[in-house]
Amino acid sequence: YLFSMKKPYMKYKNIFLYTIIYEWYIDASEAHSLKVEKILFQGKSDYQDVMVFQSATYGKVLVLDGVIQLTERDECAYQEMITHLPLCSIPNPKKVLVIGGGDGGVLREVARHSSVEHIDICEIDQMVVDVSKDYFPDVAVGYEDPRVTLHVGDGVAFLKAAQEGSYDAVIVDSSDPIGPAQELFEKPFFESVAKALRPGGVMCTQAESIWLHMHIIEDIVANCRQIFKGSVNYAWTTVPTYPSGVIGFMLCSTEGPEVDFKNPINPIDADESQNKSTVPLKFYNREIHSAAFCLPTFAKKVIEAK
Ligand code: SAM
Repeated sequence: YLFSMKKPYMKYKNIFLYTIIYEWYIDASEAHSLKVEKILFQGKSDYQDVMVFQSATYGKVLVLDGVIQLTERDECAYQEMITHLPLCSIPNPKKVLVIGGGDGGVLREVARHSSVEHIDICEIDQMVVDVSKDYFPDVAVGYEDPRVTLHVGDGVAFLKAAQEGSYDAVIVDSSDPIGPAQELFEKPFFESVAKALRPGGVMCTQAESIWLHMHIIEDIVANCRQIFKGSVNYAWTTVPTYPSGVIGFMLCSTEGPEVDFKNPINPIDADESQNKSTVPLKFYNREIHSAAFCLPTFAKKVIEAK
């Protein structure tokens, strides 16, 4: 979701109304407001403004450069889908790479897959890791898994240096294509992801909103179609606190063993959460996995155009 955020904290009876005025890429504007009960952390790293606040209805909220990254109430929808859509589509994923994802939520979800032996995460901003561990323990619990190795650095450089064919899955949990994440939406980055994946390996990347960014999604689909010679699919989910209330994912596989993203061969369900040390699944299940690939006609026309 591309937008510049104005930060009009309107003081109202000692309660801040945190109103994010989005000036969309297409110059329309809309606002989504969360009532702020208390600002818990405010800082500036080398890469972005970092803030945590206690909201009235969505629990604690992580904000980077004015953009909501996660809330305690609805983060499950995003973390579970961006992780299990790829990992439940291949048999026995062993080595997984997460780009971005500094809050640790994707790590928590990857850790549910008992076949996974090694998880690398490359997050550019140490402050996001530290703040998530301090304020979002149920999300950052992912860092406690012994299979996790944290690399603090640029995901673009990390993938350029990655050994060819070394990962079963790459999950790109990046912020918007503005600021440090800009290159994570561009063709050279996707080429480096494909190079780092084994034959039949899978990528899942955050891919904006079909209501707001079809032009961006169109470019991502065109690039992925050129680069990934296996399957290329778009899925989406609902996240109430993301702009337009939805967010999408590009799911791609490299040439090799066929990957049918729409019919999970390795599904996990709520009662099968294999990693007992974390919160149980709240959103993902095999039905919603398949349903996530059903697109409205206006989006199908663009995304599935031959
Ligand atoms: N779920 C959120 C969304 O959909 O926008 C993303 C959450 S996660 C906090 C996004 C992370 O990507 C941030 O911690 C940010 O620091 C990280 N990031 C941005 N650009 C990066 C880069 N080039 N390399 C590694 N991490 C990056």
